[in-house]
Parts: sequence; structure tokens; C-alpha cells
Amino acid sequence: MAKELHHFINGAKVAGTSGRTLGVFNPNTGEVTAQTPLASADEVRAGIASSAAAFPGWAATNPQRRARVMFDFKRLLEDNMNELAEMLSSEHGKVIADSKGDIQRGLEVIEFACGIPHLQKGEFTEGAGPDIDMYSMRQPLGVCAGITPFNFPAMIPMWMFGVAIACGNTFVCKPSEKDPSVPLRLAELFMEAGAPAGVLNVVNGDKEAVDTLLTDPAVEAISFVGSSAIAEYIYATGAAHGKRVQAMGGAKNHAIIMPDADLDRVVDDLIGAGYGSAGERCMALSVAVPVGKETGDRLIEKLIPRVESLKVGLSTDTDADYGPMVTAEQRDKVAGWIARGVEQGADLLVDGRGFELQGYEDGFFIGGSLFDNVTPDMDIWKEEIFGPVLSVVRADTFEEAAKLPSEHQYGNGVAIFTRDGDAARSFASNVNVGMVGINVPIPVPLAYHSFGGWKRSAFGDTNQHGTEGVKFYTKVKTVTSRWPTGVKEGSSFVIPTMK
Ligand code: NAD
Repeated sequence: MAKELHHFINGAKVAGTSGRTLGVFNPNTGEVTAQTPLASADEVRAGIASSAAAFPGWAATNPQRRARVMFDFKRLLEDNMNELAEMLSSEHGKVIADSKGDIQRGLEVIEFACGIPHLQKGEFTEGAGPDIDMYSMRQPLGVCAGITPFNFPAMIPMWMFGVAIACGNTFVCKPSEKDPSVPLRLAELFMEAGAPAGVLNVVNGDKEAVDTLLTDPAVEAISFVGSSAIAEYIYATGAAHGKRVQAMGGAKNHAIIMPDADLDRVVDDLIGAGYGSAGERCMALSVAVPVGKETGDRLIEKLIPRVESLKVGLSTDTDADYGPMVTAEQRDKVAGWIARGVEQGADLLVDGRGFELQGYEDGFFIGGSLFDNVTPDMDIWKEEIFGPVLSVVRADTFEEAAKLPSEHQYGNGVAIFTRDGDAARSFASNVNVGMVGINVPIPVPLAYHSFGGWKRSAFGDTNQHGTEGVKFYTKVKTVTSRWPTGVKEGSSFVIPTMK
């Protein structure tokens, strides 16, 4: 019997009342294991009201006390790592070690948030004018909301609420309806760490819940991560309702492989970054661009046996390279893209469709696929596949290769593999993409740097976490103060200057 999930509002589990739910699957077996309640607008408003009521007290709590909650939360994440990882794998399908990575990357944002008091300090100029001092402060915004995707149910909520709450905001998280158990558990642990009720609320739901967050006047800022069409909608709607919005979207990450690259290492990196987590990562490498025919031929020769021997298994199998996809729908979408690639003339060298795990025939598994001779006019190059499929696009020259990521509609991540410092440096400077790896396949910035793509991979202009995150979740107030020493100057009718 599938269990009923809940919302987490004002420090307590709250049952859904809308009458609408959505099934959560165990992707290993295809069984529905839980029902996510889909909140009505009124249920979302209850979450917003709880966060609004908690805001004044939390904003007035001194920054160091706020940071102490983060320190305790970090310890609780460590203590509960195994339980959280199993929960995450059982709904998402990624293997346990990868789920631990998902939690660990979130935990690192919490570590960063422990130091936010230092970044929230303002600036001060003594004697900016006669008897005048000038100082600025970074104040929290109020109630902030986060809308998160299914593929990182631990890390991405923590990207958002970790930074927002450490800055003194309160937060309403609307996680993916496909795997909401981990975000719900994170909220419980956050209360256990000492956060007052209402500082972090979780409301589950779909478009109705999202639209309520986007339009409610009590919500000051929206952070979104998901697919680009929705990201664009979130940005436009949130901004039209006067909110700050950062909205991260989809991706198509290229790996440029120069003739001088160490091909064995490149193949190891492409296999891990292309097929890990069944390709359900916004930083997955999904396009390999070998430069020159010989590089391309050698690369293909090495890739084929590696893709053929990928071990697809249960998310609980510690030997598996990757587990099932999140839903049957997602798996079928990937199979549809593979069919489209064949139809448009790409060479399908390894076909992962039709893969079944013995004894788990109803699980959402798909094998690894490899395409050669993909060209920029094909849909499988233009669009995000979000599955275990690597496309090889051949280029004759470095310039031709470098154009591909720069001209793509998405600009999340990109990597170059080479021993040539000049080529790498020029590529990193000039490529029209937000995150660049040099001999690094998944260049995800650490928590104290910031994460964000360009073009249709991100709408709005402030990245996640790092100092950019602190800027997003705070507003600057500048105070000019004068304590006169007794000299009377009379009225001045001209703008004050320092002439
Ligand atoms: P999605 O866009 O389907 O869903 C994301 C969120 O939006 C969910 O909470 C969902 O409930 C909500 N949503 C869905 N449809 C909506 C609608 N019509 N109106 C309002 N809200 C709606 O994305 P997903 O399938 O959960 O996640 C995969 C996508 O996320 C991929 O495109 C991936 O590249 C992207 N992603 C991007 C980043 C990044 O940082 N750029 C990181 C992770 C994932």
C-alpha cells in the first residue's frame, strides 16, 4: 500500500487536503510506493503565511546564532547520511554512492552557509564628508521560495534554502513531485538543528502550487532549477509580479577533445560524466567533439566496448555504474530521442533501448547508447536528451569544434581535453558557456564559488550559492550619517558632492 506523503508547514507534518495526489515510484520495480499531495493555492498560502510570520524573528536573530543552526544541521546531515541516501536512491533511482554525493554537495553549501555572517557584513567609510560616515548593510529580503527539479533532490534545495536562511530570510520549498521524501526529511532535520517553526516550509505540488508562489505578494524572491521552458516561464511570471528571480534551465554540455589529449583518460571521463546517474544531470557530458578524423576514429574505437559493458543495475547494487531512470515516462522520452537520431541519419553504434534487468522487468532501466556522426542540424544535438546517451559530433579543426558549444542554445557546462595550455586558455576565455572544465569533465563549482550557466541554461542574472547567492538573497541599504560638531552650514539647494 503506497504511503501518503505530507507537506511540512510551521514545524509539523501536514496532510494534503486538495484531494489531488501524484504517485512516486520505486524506479527499480516500477511500483508506486507513495503518493505526493498536490497542494491547492490555499495550502501553499498557509506555507507562505507561516514563513511570513517567522520572518521578523529570524531576521532579528543575530547572524552567528543563525550560523549555529547551520553547524548543527551539517552534523545532522552527516549523522543521517545513510538513511537519506537510501531514501533518495529509492525514489530517484541513482546508485547509493551517487546519492551520497548529491547530499554531500548540499552539505557543502551548508558548510559555506556557516560562514555567511562574514559575507553579510556591510562596508563602512569613516569621514566620507565633514562629520559624515557612510555604511551599507545587506538585509534579508523576507519570504523566499524555491522550486526544484527531480534530479538532485538533496543538493538543489540546499543550494537555495541554505544560503537564503543563513542570510536571515525564511523559505518555502516546492520540491519535485517525483521524489519529495528527501526534501521533507531535510526540513525535519533543520527543525531538529534548532530552526524556529516556519523558517523552512515544504509544500508539495505541481503548477498550481508554483503559480501561487509566483504571484503571491508576500513572496519576495524565487529560485528555480528545472527545464528551460519552465525556467523561462518562471522568470517572466515572477519578474512580472515584482520578484527577484533566478531560474536555471536545461543543458547540452560538450567535451572538446584535442588530438594531443590522453584518450584513455578522456574515455574514462566521458563514460563517468556521460552515463553516471543515467545521464540525468544538468552537467552530464552529452556531446563529445573529437578534433580531427584520427582522434575521432580512435575515440570511437575505445568508447564502443566501454558503453557496451556499462553495468546497469538496481540503485542498491554497489557494483552498478548507474540505476534506473526516475520514471517510465522519462525512459520512454530518451528512447524517443534515440529513434529520432536514427531517423535523422546519425549512426547508432550502441543501442541501449530494450535493456531489461532480469527479475526487474518493470523497472525503468535503459542501457547506454552511443551515436557517431551527429551533426548540428539534428534534433539530438539541438535538444537536451537527459539520459544515458552520448553523441559524437566530429570536427576538422579546433575552431570548428569550439563554435559548437558557443553557438548552442544552452550554455551550462563545457570541457576541453588537451595538453596545450594556449588552446585551453583561449577556449576558456572565449567560449560562450557559463562553467568550463579544462581536463575536468564535470566542472561543478564548489559551494563558495557560484553555479550558473548562460543563454537558455539560466534566466535572471545571479548564480546559485557563493557570493552570488548571498547577493541574490540580500538587499543593500546604504546609510549616510552626520553627527555635527556644532558648525551651522545653513540650507543647501544643490546636490551634495565631494568637490
Ligand atoms: P521540470 O522543469 O519538469 O520541473 C522542475 C520543477 O518545475 C518541478 O518542481 C516541477 O513541479 C515544476 N514544474 C513542472 N512543470 C511546471 C509548469 N508547467 N509550471 C510550473 N511549474 C512546473 O524539470 P525536471 O524534469 O524535474 O528536471 C530536469 C531538468 O532540470 C533538466 O532540464 C535539467 O537540465 C534541469 N536542471 C538544470 C540544472 C541547472 O542548474 N541548470 C540543474 C539540475 C537540473
